[in-house]
Amino acid sequence: MAKISYLTIDDSPTHHTDQLTDWLSARGIPAVLFCIGSTYQDLHLTCDGMTQLPDPIIRAIQKGFMIGNHTWSHRRASTLSYDQIIEEIERTELMIDNLYRRAGRARPAKLLRFPHIDRGTGGWIVDYPSLGIHEPAIRELFGNGLNIKLSPPPAEWVDKKNRIQEYLTRAGFTANIYPGVTFDWFTQTEMALARDHLYTFSTSDWMMNPDFTSYNSEWAYHSLSDLKQKIDHDPWLHSEQSANIVLAHDHNNMFDVTTSLIEHMIKTGISFREVKV
Ligand SMILES: [Zn+2]
Repeated sequence: MAKISYLTIDDSPTHHTDQLTDWLSARGIPAVLFCIGSTYQDLHLTCDGMTQLPDPIIRAIQKGFMIGNHTWSHRRASTLSYDQIIEEIERTELMIDNLYRRAGRARPAKLLRFPHIDRGTGGWIVDYPSLGIHEPAIRELFGNGLNIKLSPPPAEWVDKKNRIQEYLTRAGFTANIYPGVTFDWFTQTEMALARDHLYTFSTSDWMMNPDFTSYNSEWAYHSLSDLKQKIDHDPWLHSEQSANIVLAHDHNNMFDVTTSLIEHMIKTGISFREVKV
């Protein structure tokens, strides 16, 4: 097997979405764009949301990109009630349905990625002690790349996370669209069962957002060259035995960073493939 990856991009749309999807199309790189419903602000980041910028997403659908749900207002699920989370998801679903209709295309699947990968349990993305021998691999995956504190959540958060997964199953959401992801730590843990979209490699491109510089000192990576080395030395990204799910972002002012990291991955022999629904 060659080195295969699937590209997933969070936080669209922005004023750069057209530029980004054109750049990807020109190179034959497919991607899933996880989109936000309305304007959102966090740290120094502003995302416009599909309410303000529907047209770049309609065009992305017409260019063949797949659109996923990244919730209405990009709030952390651990800070919301179960009902609020469902409302965040369902409002965004209506918007995505509407944009597929306006694009004149059938919607292929219902896909969701939680903002900050907060699945209801904060930074405790998966239940680490239940992972057995796979715990170190998954701690490494979610540790530095997200800059989150890994502390065990209260029981009610765990209950909420389970109820959300049950809801996603009933509502027909799937994350099973990435063929060939065969790492033991993925297939033999709750990662394989998730109805929301996780990943196996984070570009951490958002850490180079020029609007974020005042926070930079606390983070694991400080330059574009650090992030290229992260690509070069990732323990799994270059496996020819398993495909990877790659996380990148569509942020204002980040087009150059994100595309140069994707370009670097291609240079190291990675080929980006279409997901399968
Ligand atoms: Zn996000």
